[in-house]
Amino acid sequence: MFVNPACLDPRIMGRDAGVIPIGVYYMAALLMENECDVRILNLAALAPGKDPVQIFGALIEKEKPDLIGFSVTNPNRINALACARAARKRLPQTCIVFGGPAPTFMASYLLKACPEIDILVQGEGESTLLSLVKVLAETGSVKGASVRNIRGIAFWEDGKIIETGPAQVVQDLDSLVHPSTYFAFEHLSMSRGCPGKCTFCGSPKFWGKSGIRFHSPLWFVTEILALAKKGITHFYISDDTFTMDRERVIEVCRLIISADIPITWNAISRVDYIDRELLSWMRRAGCIQISFGVESGSKKIKKNLGKPISDEQCIRAFSLTRSHGILPRAYFIYGSPGETHKTIRESCNLMLALKPLATVFYLLVIFPGTHLYGRALAKGQVTDGVWDQKIEDLPWFELDDTLDFSRVKSFGDTLREAFFDNIAHFVHDIDLVEEKELYPFHADFLSRLAMTFSHGEYAKNPRIKDPAKIAEHLFTRALSYSPCPRAFLGMAMLFQQQKKFNRAAALLTKGLSLFPGNKELSVCMGVALMNQAKFKDALPFFTLFKDDPGMDPYITICNTREQTP
Ligand code: SF4
Repeated sequence: MFVNPACLDPRIMGRDAGVIPIGVYYMAALLMENECDVRILNLAALAPGKDPVQIFGALIEKEKPDLIGFSVTNPNRINALACARAARKRLPQTCIVFGGPAPTFMASYLLKACPEIDILVQGEGESTLLSLVKVLAETGSVKGASVRNIRGIAFWEDGKIIETGPAQVVQDLDSLVHPSTYFAFEHLSMSRGCPGKCTFCGSPKFWGKSGIRFHSPLWFVTEILALAKKGITHFYISDDTFTMDRERVIEVCRLIISADIPITWNAISRVDYIDRELLSWMRRAGCIQISFGVESGSKKIKKNLGKPISDEQCIRAFSLTRSHGILPRAYFIYGSPGETHKTIRESCNLMLALKPLATVFYLLVIFPGTHLYGRALAKGQVTDGVWDQKIEDLPWFELDDTLDFSRVKSFGDTLREAFFDNIAHFVHDIDLVEEKELYPFHADFLSRLAMTFSHGEYAKNPRIKDPAKIAEHLFTRALSYSPCPRAFLGMAMLFQQQKKFNRAAALLTKGLSLFPGNKELSVCMGVALMNQAKFKDALPFFTLFKDDPGMDPYITICNTREQTP
């Protein structure tokens, strides 16, 4: 049984937090291919108020797994430890394994904190876990000499912690079993490793000396097609820097386009790994968002964070991405070593030049495996004992005499204010490339963004003035590029909100003439007619989809009201 434990704190972006790491799917598929019976338990996706340890305990008593593998990160370690203790009590013979970033970087701490753990898997896990499972199947145990030859593990032996050295890595990623053979999921990764050396990130040390490795475009797109067949239409490509090998990405895009599947996807990249031709391919293959780590507008801070990118590179990457109808999202970090109100102003100035359409502002935290944490350990500013506290990560400012909570909070507030106060200008400055082939994609991009202002995240943000007006501008602009059902729908819904039912119905009539049978447009049309008390006219727009139980209330109202004078 694989377990994705719950984090300590509730997540703002709950959807991201409950995701099972792609590495778990790779390992689970490999074990299934080797005739193991596998379950994946996602405790990070429980409804609020549910007790993950209790649910876990009840489930393992029912399933009685021979081995439980926890995917452990810093934020979920406390729940992982609690589950491990519960597992040992309820199933004393079951082998308890921890893998993931936390066991890789704090083996000694975890083994001392929780003697219930049998084995820690460090680094890349496929080959190590398969070897462990084979030993368990053959000998019924993973103790002592039987596992000493397996690389990439740590365990207690005779009162000492034994570490068997770096894991055996998979050189040919295409030799791995396609996880889509057994599972359906949205998060994918084509590569392992990153060319960056950011001091706040655990990726460089996690992948270590194993070098950057890739799936072939064909393997990767085969995976996408298999998942699309299972009904997945949107993917999150979570490679650290998806575009680091541009020819490979162009080939991926070429294969997706020739397969002609209606999918969309988000990716993460760096501003120094983007160019015009690549973006054009990515957009036509369904890419709708790229996230870039901008981190700061201050040269000094970027140096401290190990991010040698220039303002010019950032501005160019954001402008190019936006102009191809891909939403550029900026990650900023605040509360870094050397941060002052002056450096935050520099970040705000850079933001104004980038004009991002989405942002994420992170307070700098440090955790084992990062250069910053290693430096703090070496200087004696922190010890691993800090993880005895019920905290997910350690904010940098707690180690820095020049910073404190109220100061870093004001940094975050300043950045957020600068973004939300200016997003309307950013939207009005969107300049799209004049490539006819991209017009339908421009319409799609503008109408998606419009929906964020009319019905999504930005609609409810009190800092954004008149989001409906911004949405209307975007829907209108979308329709100027190409007919787009989402733009017809969004604009009609705005008219309905403004009680302009006639205008909504006129627009929907036009939309339905171009997209006959479109369900959303039909239902919206039915509602527009109901709002004008034209129940008889509205009825056919719902009965067209009478197999959908969601239509029943509308049909009932139309039938009832039609007969009421
Ligand atoms: S922050 Fe991004 S670019 Fe920097 S090392 Fe980590 S994954 Fe690579």
